[in-house]
Amino acid sequence: MDFVKNQAQKVKAAVGEKVEDVKKIVHKGRPKGSSTGEPAAAGERAYLIGGNWKCNGTQESLTTLIQTFNAAGPIPANVEVAICPTDIHIGLALATLRDDISVGAQNCGANDKPGAFTGEICASQLVDAGVQWVIIGHSERREGFGMAGEDSELCAKKLKVALDAGLKVMFAIGEKKEERESGVTMEVCASQLQPAAKLLEEKDWANVAIAYEPVWAIGTGLTATPEMAQETHKSIREWVAEHVSADVASAVRIQYGGSMKGANAKELLAQPDIDGGLIGGASLKADFFNVVNGAL
Ligand code: PEP
Repeated sequence: MDFVKNQAQKVKAAVGEKVEDVKKIVHKGRPKGSSTGEPAAAGERAYLIGGNWKCNGTQESLTTLIQTFNAAGPIPANVEVAICPTDIHIGLALATLRDDISVGAQNCGANDKPGAFTGEICASQLVDAGVQWVIIGHSERREGFGMAGEDSELCAKKLKVALDAGLKVMFAIGEKKEERESGVTMEVCASQLQPAAKLLEEKDWANVAIAYEPVWAIGTGLTATPEMAQETHKSIREWVAEHVSADVASAVRIQYGGSMKGANAKELLAQPDIDGGLIGGASLKADFFNVVNGAL
């Protein structure tokens, strides 16, 4: 019996060392970042700039992109940056991306524990790997790209599961072109937020950023004008004040997403209710850092 116990202890110790070794390898050599300017003052919202690499890149192309970002100079101290690669490239980012850029996923499962869910990644597994953020509710996933899409109830469920696992979430909402044209933008945004507001406790919102992404502006080169975006962001904040709380409304960050790039970032980020961006196409280029610096 003692022999079995001793062997079991030895195996446990060896596995423990292996896990530590793997963590050391994964986190070894992540280059240090640097910052410039003043951090957000108490009570002010720090900007959040997310990069959504979508289903793009190879080990080689993303290694080059990461090198570009690592050499891109300081990040304004009032800006938080998170990059969301494909799941297969998360390890590469965690091992080689400068350490002042967080790594996020683009989706997670709705199941709160790992198990027999072929093809899924559980939120707790993302946390275990060192991932800090996840995008939930992106319009491409809501639409489904040829498969069944995700409705607002499912998005809310994933949001809650992700938060409970310890992830921070960029929760994407936004209207389609015909919805904007028929004047129901805010009704659409409210219908996407409502199931989340029902499921979340007030404290959960500390780890949520709302990414307002008009679908007609995503990947199209069309951008909402700063005034148009500000108007919707303000309405979203008012909705949160009414349906969650005034405190959450004043603290929650609302990012704009939709063909944001270096050339238009400064004007968008200057709007009082625009607290950052969720960037697709431009996050795959050096121009991403012009967006990050747009907050200066
Ligand atoms: C996005 O994917 O969330 C997005 C806003 O894409 P793009 O910047 O390319 O419009």
